[in-house]
Amino acid sequence: MADLAVDLTAPNGQKYKLPTGLFINNEFVKGNGGTIVSIDPATEKEIVTIHAASADDVDRAVKAAHAALKHSSWKLLPPTDRGRLMARLADLVEEKREILATIEAWDNGKPYSVALNDDLGEVALTLRYYSGWADKTFGQTISTTPEKFAYTLRQPIGVVGQIIPWNFPLSMAAWKLGPALACGNTVVLKPAEQTPLSVLILAELIKEAGFPPGVVNIVNGYGREAGSALVEHPLVDKVAFTGSTATARQIMKMASATLKNITLETGGKSPLLVFSDADLEQAVKWSHSGIMYNQGQICTATSRIFVQKEIYNTFIEKYKEAVKSTSKVGNQWDESTFQGPQVTRAQYERILDYIEIGKSEGATVLTGGEPYREEGSSTDFSKGFFIAPTVFTDVNDSMRICQEEIFGPVVAIASFETEEEAISRANNTTYGLGAAVFTTNLQRGHRVAAEIESGMVWINSSQDSDPRVPFGGVKQSGIGRELGEAGLEAYSQIKAVHVNMGTVL
Ligand code: NAD
Repeated sequence: MADLAVDLTAPNGQKYKLPTGLFINNEFVKGNGGTIVSIDPATEKEIVTIHAASADDVDRAVKAAHAALKHSSWKLLPPTDRGRLMARLADLVEEKREILATIEAWDNGKPYSVALNDDLGEVALTLRYYSGWADKTFGQTISTTPEKFAYTLRQPIGVVGQIIPWNFPLSMAAWKLGPALACGNTVVLKPAEQTPLSVLILAELIKEAGFPPGVVNIVNGYGREAGSALVEHPLVDKVAFTGSTATARQIMKMASATLKNITLETGGKSPLLVFSDADLEQAVKWSHSGIMYNQGQICTATSRIFVQKEIYNTFIEKYKEAVKSTSKVGNQWDESTFQGPQVTRAQYERILDYIEIGKSEGATVLTGGEPYREEGSSTDFSKGFFIAPTVFTDVNDSMRICQEEIFGPVVAIASFETEEEAISRANNTTYGLGAAVFTTNLQRGHRVAAEIESGMVWINSSQDSDPRVPFGGVKQSGIGRELGEAGLEAYSQIKAVHVNMGTVL
């Protein structure tokens, strides 16, 4: 069994004594659900072994969160002070951003520069944004009759179980913790077993920021044991989940026994439409980053590109050039790396399987289509989960590569003739997370945005995400919204109080 802290030296030279236990009641404790071995996806070498939670450990964490919910140090804390704690946490994240980004990149495989500038920037921004909301969530007063009125109280939901994925470990933690804490809930957070490390540092910062014990508990563990114990726990009032649609279905079933409030953010197969009047250079660049960023491991990735017939051939040529010039594959530490390794062997093999499926379905491989190998590079490609960025053309909409979420650097490009056709084909999916439209026609941009079945649309862009703007899906891409003011609704409930000023019976 692992110790409760281990001295680590990362490949970029950063050193840190990383806690390895479960974070319950502001202390690191041993877990009884076995261990999790964290692997560097670029080298396949072990980074560290950490503790995993059993169902009993989850029970302890939930009870700690439940006690904290009732304790005056949290319950009676003025909302402004709650906001102050969150802002302090945002400051600490900024102070520690280099080590947080190092551990994130090492464990997940994303380029260090991306972890540092994008992920850590987003974590601090999200926590700070929600710190400002802590004392700005109110109820209403409602006039009813001359002698009566009512008012509403906006109250926390209670103990919240949060289950997050491995593609943006710290950002997902911030998206979940920010609104939950702003609204006065207490939390048990379960990170993904593929990327358990960076949140352990966040746990230390939560304590350092001054949050009372039990307000935030972080239990690393496996989905089937720790995750389901959290979802089924009778003292958990709400479950917020981000991950696969298949797991979301199981969570809905498990949560139904105690009728828990749930929000789900799941998979996608987001379309990107390029009309012939679009700025072609920009459309190519955005549609490239819209799927290839983060190794293609983005729930909103624009993985289906539809290009209007008149410009299809030119677009394809330019897209191929963009992949060649931009998608530099390498390890996390090389400053020129755009695309690192996939997160795990399981994901790597799953993506390669999809590439073979695409070939057998008759799609043409424009570029890529295999593991990435390169001689004479500063990255050693004899190990690691590297995939050549892959572009399929000659696809039809019923192919599995056009219907199923691949979650890797794989895109399918098709052509269309009319706006009506483009919208109908874009909507021909069980998912509805993101969508993008490229056009210089203002009316068309807004018309298409209104018609696409998705929770978010980008006009002349892809993957914009901002803590001030609601995020979430329709159809089988999820239930509820995170971020923005809408994110507060997901973590608070309204109580109506009727006041009788003089009606007598
Ligand atoms: P997953 O849904 O199994 O895992 C996500 C989280 O759910 C993890 O924390 C996991 O431990 C937990 N979990 C798993 N089973 C659970 C259960 N029965 N009860 C409670 N919690 C449980 O996703 P995955 O297997 O890691 O990835 C598979 C596919 O999911 C990917 O290839 C991708 O298509 C999709 N995915 C989507 C997102 C997203 O952001 N929408 C993120 C990760 C993965």
